[in-house]
Amino acid sequence: MTAIRMDGRLLARQWLGRMAAEAGGLRREGIVPGLAVVGGEDPAARQYVLRMERAAASIGICVRACPLPAAADEDDILGLLDELNRDDDVHGILVQQPLGAHIDARSVLSAIDPQKDVDGASPASQGLLTLGLPSYIPATAYAVAVLLEQYGVAVAGREAVVVGRSPVVGRPVAALLLQRDATVTVCHRRTEDLAAHTRRADVLVVAAGQAGLVRGDMIKPGAAVIDVGTNVTDSGTVGDVVFEEASRVAGWVTPVPGGVGPLTTAAILQNTIRSARRRARQLAR
Ligand code: NAD
Repeated sequence: MTAIRMDGRLLARQWLGRMAAEAGGLRREGIVPGLAVVGGEDPAARQYVLRMERAAASIGICVRACPLPAAADEDDILGLLDELNRDDDVHGILVQQPLGAHIDARSVLSAIDPQKDVDGASPASQGLLTLGLPSYIPATAYAVAVLLEQYGVAVAGREAVVVGRSPVVGRPVAALLLQRDATVTVCHRRTEDLAAHTRRADVLVVAAGQAGLVRGDMIKPGAAVIDVGTNVTDSGTVGDVVFEEASRVAGWVTPVPGGVGPLTTAAILQNTIRSARRRARQLAR
């Protein structure tokens, strides 16, 4: 079997095209969707903001980069979030993680106005998602859902296995798959016999940050394999799944790069438009 390669770049381009029309409609109502990105000053963080700015600019969303100096403490960040929460030109706030070890991420994420929490990162948003209640869906989980939906992969009633349980990826992905009526297993560093679980998966989402963790013989023939892992190695950026091996066994597989990543950016922008639209409705009342 040769798996269908799930093309995140293509889907993201199409999605951005639809969003450009939505953002144009809002601009005609006098609202320019605005996203603030609060984050570190390291090269990876800057790269991320640049990618976000480029995609946003192409569809008429304004991105405000708010880099955090390494010396920034929790009070500095809370002060900045307070300003952004009050700023009517800012419809979405994204706090890049990880934050420094000296900062309590939970208290920072809790300080984001829930109406502007476009990465669904605060404990309140995560709680709503877990309960299956309306909330902003965290970007990576949203990207995974779009890939499955756009490629027509059935989820309801199927076995889904998520490798990784971080609050940023694994947990929200598992919550979303459960919401879509999959039977969900979450694996993690302490899981015994990972392969026994992954081999049962009709839908396998891998987000461990371990290059080469999932080999071809760990995949059920015909499964959909979504590789969230992003690992920088001597031979370039690779995922957690050995792509060539997975391609011979799976029904669908995402490449890295070019799979989940571009859709993650698009998901944040879509949530920002949603927030701006809510603001437009409030102003119209
Ligand atoms: P994390 O380090 O916070 O969490 C990793 C999780 O994987 C943990 O729950 C851990 O228990 C589990 N794990 C690690 N090794 C394992 C093993 N051998 N077997 C089973 N489980 C194992 O990382 P994260 O923030 O969740 O990110 C995971 C990966 O996804 C990273 O490579 C990251 O760069 C990538 N990522 C990609 C995107 C994207 O848009 N493509 C977004 C966020 C994160």
